[in-house]
Amino acid sequence: MLQEAQKILKTYFGYSSFRTGQEEIIYQILQKQDTLGILPTGGGKSLCYQVPALLAEGVTIVISPLISLMKDQVDQLQQAGISATFLNSSIDAFEMEERVRDAIHGKYKLLYIAPERLETPNFRAVLERIPISIVAVDEAHCISQWGHDFRLSYRLIYQMIEGLRVKPTVVALTATATPIVMEDIREQLRIPRENTVVTGFKRENLTFSVVKGQEKRSFILKYIQDRPNQSGIIYAATRKEVDQLHEFLLQKGIKAGKYHAGLSEEERNHAQDQFIFEKIAVMVATNAFGMGIDASNVRFVIHHNLPKNMESYYQEAGRAGRDGERSECILLFTPYDIQLQKFLIEQSLLDESAKQIEYERLQKMTDYCHTELCLQRYIVEYFGDHYEEETCGTCQNCTDNREKIDITTEAQMIFSCIKRMDERFGKTLVAQVLKGSKNKRIIEMHLQKLSTYGLLKNRTEKDIANLIDFLIAEGYCKLTNSQYPTVGLTNKVVPVLKGEQKVYKKEQAIRHLLDANDELF
Ligand code: ADP
Repeated sequence: MLQEAQKILKTYFGYSSFRTGQEEIIYQILQKQDTLGILPTGGGKSLCYQVPALLAEGVTIVISPLISLMKDQVDQLQQAGISATFLNSSIDAFEMEERVRDAIHGKYKLLYIAPERLETPNFRAVLERIPISIVAVDEAHCISQWGHDFRLSYRLIYQMIEGLRVKPTVVALTATATPIVMEDIREQLRIPRENTVVTGFKRENLTFSVVKGQEKRSFILKYIQDRPNQSGIIYAATRKEVDQLHEFLLQKGIKAGKYHAGLSEEERNHAQDQFIFEKIAVMVATNAFGMGIDASNVRFVIHHNLPKNMESYYQEAGRAGRDGERSECILLFTPYDIQLQKFLIEQSLLDESAKQIEYERLQKMTDYCHTELCLQRYIVEYFGDHYEEETCGTCQNCTDNREKIDITTEAQMIFSCIKRMDERFGKTLVAQVLKGSKNKRIIEMHLQKLSTYGLLKNRTEKDIANLIDFLIAEGYCKLTNSQYPTVGLTNKVVPVLKGEQKVYKKEQAIRHLLDANDELF
């Protein structure tokens, strides 16, 4: 059976071998086993259902959340001589009817639909008349509330499946799923646990780094100028920032494009085409750009702002180096970006418990910026995968040769201070107490009477706050999940306080600290 799959791969797609994970997923589908496949961005998820679609008797329904993506995929399939079409809000009623009629008569091998279609009972009735053999759920994390892009209409997928006369084989695919999200997807779609195929989150050709204390625009400009003709994406948090950064780069003579949801569809398509056909090397964009962009030679992805969580970060950063060549993923960090993300969570319409989850995710994203551990390892472990090697050897932390210094004494002072403050206060106040600040709040609360008051008076308050961030990232301290989190301690501090274990930190590099009022919005 796999031999036939190989033949299809070669004939229709022109590839000679399957990638890790693809073969296993395809094999399971061909055995009619419902499957959950987790493949990194660029790992080749589409082929996992396109190849079985060509081997199966009936139609393969592909549920995909993005209309633009659907059209691209269908165009590509048609070019390869495969009969495929899509049903979404971009086509009129007449066209819809015609396509549905053709689908019922088995004209298509693949039929892409937007999940919102399932909200119409009529449409579900139509599906029941189509000979469906496989249902592929793309971006399957959208089914889970714990995922980062929950869509209510995804919850109708199982109902639709249940309504079909013959049970189809279900395959759910995503690049970004933590263990909880995986569990949820399986539960929603009744996929047996043992039918999960996870291929590592590791992307060996990507080099990760977090840049702190640099003027962002100058950094980006120099980075691009040092790499003429290299293709790259710069993600910024807001439309306004994209506009400003784009304008700045144009003024400096960089041929850059821009992309965000505030532009007309025509402008966006134009920018996207220019990038894909390499008329422009650099794209400045919000996260609206990229889902399904099949540009394989992206050499760098720079994040101008902190993303809201690791899922978003890895999905966006992962657009670099799809061709397997060495590529860079750089995150420009300023503490102010954390405030922006908190603000966005607070303003969101999420209920209280969902907000808590978002705060927790944001904290893990922040920890990524403060950790001194291997960044690739951090990512892989975040997604619940096992990282066999000690380190990747290429990320910023792995190649950082700065000397490690013993900060055990400072760490002990910080832990004691947090303890004395009953783990009830935020990072800033802890830092102020250790600094010995005469701040009004401190006096009002008599915190100057604590034995830990002024213990780190020779350090700047910012320095102490940075140390606390580091201790949080390394798992000694923890923050509560709220807009104004308080710092607490974990069990990891016990051996340090007992003097049985030491804490090391790389010595501080000389930095030109950024003005926290970096222009935003
Ligand atoms: P994903 O959806 O997982 O991000 P895609 O399905 O868009 O990834 O595939 C990414 C790229 O890899 C595409 O250009 C695709 O044609 C290519 N690709 C997929 N499978 C293979 C394979 N077995 N051999 C070579 N290239 C492949």
